[in-house]
Amino acid sequence: APTATRPPLTLRLCQPRGFCAGVDRAIQIVVLAIKKYGAPVYVRHEIVHNRYVVEGLQNLGAVFIEELHEIPEDHHHCPVVFSAHGVPKSVPADAAARNLFYLDATCPLVSKVHKQAIRHHRHGRHVLLIGHAGHPEVIGTMGQLPEGAVTLVETEDDARNLQPADPEALGFVTQTTLSVEDTAHILEALQERFPAMQAPAAESICYATTNRQDAVKETAPGVDLYLVVGAPNSSNSRRLVEVAERAGARMSILVQRASEIPWNDIGDISTLGLSAGASAPEIIVDEIIDAFRARFDVTVDLAVTATETEDFPVMRVLRDVELTRA
Ligand code: SF4
Repeated sequence: APTATRPPLTLRLCQPRGFCAGVDRAIQIVVLAIKKYGAPVYVRHEIVHNRYVVEGLQNLGAVFIEELHEIPEDHHHCPVVFSAHGVPKSVPADAAARNLFYLDATCPLVSKVHKQAIRHHRHGRHVLLIGHAGHPEVIGTMGQLPEGAVTLVETEDDARNLQPADPEALGFVTQTTLSVEDTAHILEALQERFPAMQAPAAESICYATTNRQDAVKETAPGVDLYLVVGAPNSSNSRRLVEVAERAGARMSILVQRASEIPWNDIGDISTLGLSAGASAPEIIVDEIIDAFRARFDVTVDLAVTATETEDFPVMRVLRDVELTRA
């Protein structure tokens, strides 16, 4: 029988993995807005960093733009949704000036970081934001405060070279999707130089990031190959690939779809680790498992490292749509 020729493969599947509550909410907001207001619904920036999700929403009638001026005059009555990553304060202000109706899908946990940055600023502290330059969340968080009020710290070197005007008046926040380990090192370097630096009231790295990294750390030691489902521009997914590597996976790669699995480079494997970033839909995880089942005799070993109950409700204006959905 052909099954006898398939080599055995133990698949260590992480749980939790994939969609977080913030991503789920952002997608729901777009779907419900299309349902309530009709197509098109404009979405500023990729709602979440996943092409499959973006294409699915485009098929329903979402139109993705980078900036608000791209919305044609005669479509100013159409709603525009801001992505889960958050936006600088200038964006809702610009939307109001253009008389646009906007729905802000910023994850509540990103909004929380915004509030902490504003709080530092109110207390007269210069804000240090630990994060990756150019990421939309970083642009959004920096844009909560006036120009010059926030300094981005990307690396331990940045932390060592920082020359703040007043070392006694500093407060920090971080991007929500950072490496827990790298961030701890950057913070140590900062704390050593600036012992008066104030922490935010709550941890900025979110529960989903922490849980997904913990799960990968647990499952990676000794596996021949680790696959993380996610997009190259997804910060939290890329961190999972690094975590897998550091925790002892022989090889660790990011794939968006099963079609990207580099079968020729994989070689002989008997263990596979599998997780998915917070913006990666479960259907792609299934697709990848199926692709391995076609080539291997797969035994799934589910590694449950945390239970997640977070659920973020959509804004009031869309709740009636949700109620009639069933
Ligand atoms: Fe919110 Fe965390 Fe998900 Fe980002 S990764 S959308 S901060 S829950």
